[in-house]
Amino acid sequence: MTEKIQAIRGMHDILPGQTPRWQGVEAVFRRVLPGYGYQEIRLPIVEKTELFKRSIGEVTDIVEKEMYTFDDRNGDSLPLRPEGTAGCLRACLEQGLLQHGSLRLWYMGPMFRHERPQKGRYRQFYQMGLEAYGMEGPDIDAEVILLTRRLWRELGVAHKLELQVNSLGTIEERLAYRGELVAYFRAHLDRLDEDSRRRLDTNPLRILDSKNPAMAQLVADAPSLFDHLGEASRSHFHGLTDALSDAGIAYTVNPRLVRGLDYYCNTVFEWVTEELGAQGTVCAGGRYDGLIAQLGGKASHAVGFALGMERLIDLLDEPERFDRAAHPHLYLIRVGDAAQRPAALLAERLRDELPGLRLVLHSGGGSFKSQFKRADRSDAAVALILGDDEAAAGTVGIKPLRGQGDQISVPQTELTGHLRSLLTSI
Ligand code: ATP
Ligand code: MG
Repeated sequence: MTEKIQAIRGMHDILPGQTPRWQGVEAVFRRVLPGYGYQEIRLPIVEKTELFKRSIGEVTDIVEKEMYTFDDRNGDSLPLRPEGTAGCLRACLEQGLLQHGSLRLWYMGPMFRHERPQKGRYRQFYQMGLEAYGMEGPDIDAEVILLTRRLWRELGVAHKLELQVNSLGTIEERLAYRGELVAYFRAHLDRLDEDSRRRLDTNPLRILDSKNPAMAQLVADAPSLFDHLGEASRSHFHGLTDALSDAGIAYTVNPRLVRGLDYYCNTVFEWVTEELGAQGTVCAGGRYDGLIAQLGGKASHAVGFALGMERLIDLLDEPERFDRAAHPHLYLIRVGDAAQRPAALLAERLRDELPGLRLVLHSGGGSFKSQFKRADRSDAAVALILGDDEAAAGTVGIKPLRGQGDQISVPQTELTGHLRSLLTSI
């Protein structure tokens, strides 16, 4: 037999049995995000390498070792996007969207990182992200977090997520802190793992983000960036925490929260959960005012986040409820020559008369018994039966497929009214 071809490692199919929960989550995004004035933007999957080097930073995990890069036919080396923030800003600058002050955008789609695949960590994964440009104060940072809380509430996962916040201050404050941090880690060089030793010269703050349990104590005892924040950064941070308290959002200040990317300043936050093992960060974001100028724009302000769709979907309680909402209402069985064409017309008529109806018309022939099995397997709530007898008599059989319930016969002229009341109880 010819060998079957397999998918790329770490890249997954989202199967028909799972798409309803994805659509359910996406429907919540499409409802909540416009409620805060966000508009959707759709962006290319491939961007220039330079874009990510300049925005994410050359000494980050993503650019150093996670980018999925290929040579296109012109010989250019091009990466598949590892995240959406850089491309979104590139598009806005290129298209002049930032000229009119503030702008709120969101996007959703696949991202690519060459990481070691494991639960909650894939090489192609999906993010929903948003970006708010041109707004300086902490109130917009807070609004972004409020929006995420509303998403969690609507999805029924709020009780599983905890908010952690921190401030990374300004670049100058970070530089001063960096010296002290490097001196501290140098004094404990023997306790640093290999990754961290490498980062000591390139990106020492990232050591604080280490997931190696052997270094947890060392990291916990490290000097805190918080103590190096100036007046303006502190006041921004307190503006944020006051707004969170006003809104009744519980949060933990986590001074070790630094985020993997270079471009953050002031606010950083993560929504984390205990329920997904090591891959516990579902949503991560913060402020990155410097990025706009870094990509060639006029200095301005930016705050945003990205959430991992797979991790969010793994958190859902009873995800089957979304699947049920996508099951067919009706499966129309048609047996015998005289029933074929009337059944096709009947199906179209019902779709016309009952907007939103999910009806599967049997196709491919077969006995009554085999069609009934198909109807059962389709997860439809009710089978409609049109055989030669029904076609001749102008009736349709109706048989509930879930639970008990006898088959009844209804005149075709009364079918729509009958189904309308039946469907409200499905
Ligand atoms: P982590 O620390 O888990 O590697 P990160 O800091 O690299 O995350 P971000 O770049 O901030 O993650 O991406 C935002 C969110 O996207 C993460 O919080 C997570 O939910 C999701 N995410 C990131 N990388 C992956 C991946 N390889 N597979 C699945 N989801 C991911
Ligand atoms: Mg990562």
